Amino acid sequence: MKVVKFGGSSLADGEAFAKAINIIKADPERWVVVTSAPGKRNSADRKVTDLLIQYANEVIADKPVDQTVAAIFHRYQQIGAFFNLPASGLAPIKEALINLPHGNYPDSNYLMAAFKAHGERLNAQLMAKILNHLGLPARYVDPSTAGIVVSGTPNNATISPITYKNLSHLNVSDDERLIFPGFFGFTPTGHIATFSRGGSDITGAMLAKGLGARIYENFTDVDAIYSTNPHVVDHPRAIHRMTYREMRELSYAGFSVFHDEALIPAIEGQIPVNVKNTNNPTAPGTMIVPENGFAATHVVTGVASAKHFSALYLHKYLMNKQSGFTFSILQILAKYGVSYEHMPSGIDDITIIFDRDKLTDAVIDQFCNEIQYEIDPDRLEWIDDYAIIMVVGEGMVHRVGTMERIANAVANDGLSLTMVNQGASQISIMIGTRRADADQAVQSIYREFFDKEDD
Ligand code: ASP
Repeated sequence: MKVVKFGGSSLADGEAFAKAINIIKADPERWVVVTSAPGKRNSADRKVTDLLIQYANEVIADKPVDQTVAAIFHRYQQIGAFFNLPASGLAPIKEALINLPHGNYPDSNYLMAAFKAHGERLNAQLMAKILNHLGLPARYVDPSTAGIVVSGTPNNATISPITYKNLSHLNVSDDERLIFPGFFGFTPTGHIATFSRGGSDITGAMLAKGLGARIYENFTDVDAIYSTNPHVVDHPRAIHRMTYREMRELSYAGFSVFHDEALIPAIEGQIPVNVKNTNNPTAPGTMIVPENGFAATHVVTGVASAKHFSALYLHKYLMNKQSGFTFSILQILAKYGVSYEHMPSGIDDITIIFDRDKLTDAVIDQFCNEIQYEIDPDRLEWIDDYAIIMVVGEGMVHRVGTMERIANAVANDGLSLTMVNQGASQISIMIGTRRADADQAVQSIYREFFDKEDD
């Protein structure tokens, strides 16, 4: 059995739906289907999820909502019309949209989550109706029926382990397709909570694990995951096969085709993930597989870069002899609720790297002042201009000289590195650069590893 998930652009309109339906029909193993909300039909378009966020904000601010509701309904209506679905099939969708403000929400965060979740909920209901209308038996399965339980905050939930027990009791038979909405579950007290944005991928992986799928197919709008960002390098090489941990490291630093949290259930269930293109479904796509038995064909699988970092550099002589030095810093960070990303260190220096998107200027000022006062470093420098480049490949394990090749490639192009971290992970090397240099550094590294025949 396969779990198939379709992303927002793969379900954006009637034509996209028709392609998705052909994909479902083409393989009898594809009987668990996960839908996203209708995404953008073109670059100027808006995702239904974003329209629902607007709708929620209008309700919260007590503003008129009619235009927004009409715009959202129009998206579903157009899809229904493409398949000549009778109006009676669409009426419940309209009703659900209109009734959303009357739900029982503990606070505005839960209200927001419930509104957002309806993008996928209504799309999955619509998909089930269309499949039945076309003569393909299908059943909509709500996360409440399936026992998808989540915890955490309403708009950034995580899967509760009980979900897997519940899923193992789900009544499944291969004479009907099961259509699940992605992106949300229910809290133990029965309120909707969503995963973070793009979280339908997580639902798909969770179902693949919980229902014991042979493979998780994730349909999106690209032929494959590429070895680097196509906006930075022209026509980068497609990755045909990569390991879970390679994907984890690359998605951390910006590879966004597949949600990074979605890999966890796939890894737990050891389910291979196949990222495929709805517009070119016979292309093999990218397989993300367990490390066990993986034979690397290249030194480097991918090069990713992310520019949303900052760093705190601290210098103190004999830092390495002072017990509790790092502990005191971490205590201060914890006091401000700040988590750090990386912490490369030397004998007298330490650099602490942060995700800049998670920090405000005020919080940075506060913890820097406190570190200055409490720790009394010889030098404290906040480096706001920081990018991270991850060079990732199973082929690096036990191979010497990779760091040298990276450093030379970057240096030959006249760029300087602010940090090198080849610490705990055997399959990646992380380097820091100034933001303005990041793209060029990626190009240099790409050329070194991908344009040379010997790899
Ligand atoms: N529709 C949601 C979003 O736009 C979730 C998803 O597409 O996976 O973030």
